[in-house]
Amino acid sequence: MSSNKTGKISKTLSHQYELNDPLHQLFDAVKVISVQGYDDDRRVIYWNEGSEVLYGYSKQEATGQKLEDLIIPPYMREGVVEAHGNWLNQGVEIPAAEITLQHKSGAEVSVFSSHVMFTNQYGNKQMYCVDIDLTDIRKAEAQALFKEHMLETIFEAIPDLFFLMQKDGTIIDYHASKQENLYVSPQQFIGKNMADVMPEEVTSKFQTYIEKVIEQREMISFEYDLTMPQGISYFEARLAYLSEYKQVMVVIRDITEQHKSAELIRHQAYFDSLTLLPNRFLALDRLSQILIEAKRNDQKAVVIFIDLDDFKKVNDSLGHEIGDKLLISAANRLKEVVRKEDTVGRLGGDEFIVLLKGLAEPNDALAIAENLLKTFRKPFQLAGRELILTLSIGIAVYPENGNSASDLLRNADTAMYQAKALGRNTFSFFTSEMNKVMQRRFEIEEQMHVALERGEFEVHYQPKFEINNNAIVGAEALLRWHNPSLGEVTPGEFIPIAEHTGLIVPVGEFVINQALAFLKHWQICDQQFYTMAINLSPRQFREQGLLSSLKKALEVTQISAECLELEITEGVLMNGQSYIHESIAEISALGIKLSQDDFGTGYSSLSYLRQYPFNVLKIDRSFIHGITLNKSDCDLVKATIAMANSLGLTVVAEGVETEPQLTILKDLGCDLVQGFYFSKPLTAKQLLKFSSQH
Ligand code: C2E
Ligand code: MG
Ligand code: MG
Repeated sequence: MSSNKTGKISKTLSHQYELNDPLHQLFDAVKVISVQGYDDDRRVIYWNEGSEVLYGYSKQEATGQKLEDLIIPPYMREGVVEAHGNWLNQGVEIPAAEITLQHKSGAEVSVFSSHVMFTNQYGNKQMYCVDIDLTDIRKAEAQALFKEHMLETIFEAIPDLFFLMQKDGTIIDYHASKQENLYVSPQQFIGKNMADVMPEEVTSKFQTYIEKVIEQREMISFEYDLTMPQGISYFEARLAYLSEYKQVMVVIRDITEQHKSAELIRHQAYFDSLTLLPNRFLALDRLSQILIEAKRNDQKAVVIFIDLDDFKKVNDSLGHEIGDKLLISAANRLKEVVRKEDTVGRLGGDEFIVLLKGLAEPNDALAIAENLLKTFRKPFQLAGRELILTLSIGIAVYPENGNSASDLLRNADTAMYQAKALGRNTFSFFTSEMNKVMQRRFEIEEQMHVALERGEFEVHYQPKFEINNNAIVGAEALLRWHNPSLGEVTPGEFIPIAEHTGLIVPVGEFVINQALAFLKHWQICDQQFYTMAINLSPRQFREQGLLSSLKKALEVTQISAECLELEITEGVLMNGQSYIHESIAEISALGIKLSQDDFGTGYSSLSYLRQYPFNVLKIDRSFIHGITLNKSDCDLVKATIAMANSLGLTVVAEGVETEPQLTILKDLGCDLVQGFYFSKPLTAKQLLKFSSQH
């Protein structure tokens, strides 16, 4: 149709329709519904405000335009024209429907469109369209659909199970990503109650938490486990209450793996990885528990401290692998001896602990200690060898020997030391005397820390004599300690403690410097080539600085190295460490003399004498003491001197107290003597006087 014709007709038609007022008045101001009227040529004869809003054309713009030119998208135009014609001519109604029309801007407009056709007073057929905007509804629908897809994707992506339940545990809905996660197949869930698909105790746990979540209205979680065909699985359930719907959302996650690794970490924190026994931490915790129980029931509890004798030697000689195996076997034997309810733990290294509870008598502990020693009598079979391992056992009893776990452990440890002192392979009960010894030990340790600074140490010197002409050849430096609160402390008491704490290193250096400074002075005074013997502890060899401090002291004092003699005991050599070899070789290379002290005690392995560059051998004073009393001591001294002579070593007899001793030693061919018969250890001043008068 041409445009001029359109304009003409529209004018006429609109005039005819303005008369149709009552109907129009009804819709004119309605904004939410679009009402459009069309003449039989589909030209707009009515266009309410709702139409302006919905399609963007003002009333003026729309009036007279054809339906298909205004709001019908191009692809629908032909169909619309045809349908309208059919209705007009054959009475075929256009049914109401959801359709997508077009806004003035070209945008799509979703509407629910209803149509009526009637004839007005002028006999013209008019079609009225009533369109309801569906945009918001469509949007909401699309969003709902999107959310549904998103949820599905989430359910798919997350390995958790999602259940929707009623308060009574009836399962309304579930989602799961993988079917193998399910305990029961999905179809079996919906409509069932939890009680039908889960064990009773789990169901009741759920019930409790469902009640809680309804009451608290906050997300709540708990853990439970289920026995599955493949073993026990652990789950975490998170519950949220959807109060509007009176439903409970349950999210279930399989936490078996986390549980396993947490269990592993827990195990590592509380158990010794080698023997799988409770470690120190757990053992002490158990002891605390045992003590609480013992207090309540008025019972005794026993702490048994066990140390494997000479275990270090096994490690050093057979290697750590065998050492580890032996520890495992030893741990197993310990476990065999005690009752199920008792604890065997590993405190570290070769130290173990046994905790006994519910005992009526301390004597019950004695039987167990004896059994422990007995089970170790049978050799261990390891790497094709038979190994004998013995135990030193210390026993502390609650409440007699302490109230706290730490006191009892310390006292059992003290008693164990006593067992070691008794010759190992035995047990010892803690006594109050031991307590005194320990207390003194602590006090010595404490005081010694400041003794050097306070100048409490003094070096004394015991002269050494040529056996044939009584001439003084030198002296041995012997340390003395006077402490204001402890009084005189003997080296026998404080040297081992200084060793243990490492204080022997600075203290030893003090002795070296003092003794060499004195030696210089003494040599000048008497114009003699005296020697100075200084005792060295094993611990001093571990220190890097030993060699350099020796060198420095020799340099400072201008003493020739051959005047210095270092006395070492077998304890130093038994260590077997390579740094000892190296230090000894270097010391010897400097020209310093080496002396084997206390020969005859301990193992007195002759091989050490050959293996190391010794110059001097000192026979222990216990043999000198026995030399006039029993033949065996005399024979031993005789043999020692003969052997030393053959090895070219100078022999010193220490602790010579009587003339008969001296006579025998002379007969046996001993070279040098030292002892109270000649002189006690003297202060520097006393020795200067003594030697000048000698
Ligand atoms: P030792 O090296 O065997 O020293 C000899 C010990 O025998 C000294 O004991 C000495 O006083 C004592 N003695 C000497 N003559 C006689 C005697 O005729 N009869 C008896 N019964 N005893 C005699 P002291 O001074 O108590 O020293 C004990 C141990 O302490 C020493 O044994 C030595 O191993 C150690 N020691 C002493 N001073 C030092 C030191 O500066 N450093 C190190 N590492 N150890 C030291
Ligand atoms: Mg000595
Ligand atoms: Mg000695």
